[in-house]
Amino acid sequence: MHGTPCSIGALLDRLQGDELAALNTMLGTPDAPGWPASEIFKVLTDEGFTVGYQQINKHRGRKCRCARAAA
Ligand SMILES: [Zn+2]
Repeated sequence: MHGTPCSIGALLDRLQGDELAALNTMLGTPDAPGWPASEIFKVLTDEGFTVGYQQINKHRGRKCRCARAAA
């Protein structure tokens, strides 16, 4: 492990159950594109979570800190 995950990775670590499933659905998979980053950012901030807007697409594109940490 190298350092801490990005704000999206940290949130995925924190969430459980339905909330975790909902976030994974929003982020999407190779087979099922997720929501636009702007929509995800709005939902998360409305829920009171602090995430970086740029990090949504970086995490999805595996260009964030957690992708490197998992490699
Ligand atoms: Zn990440």
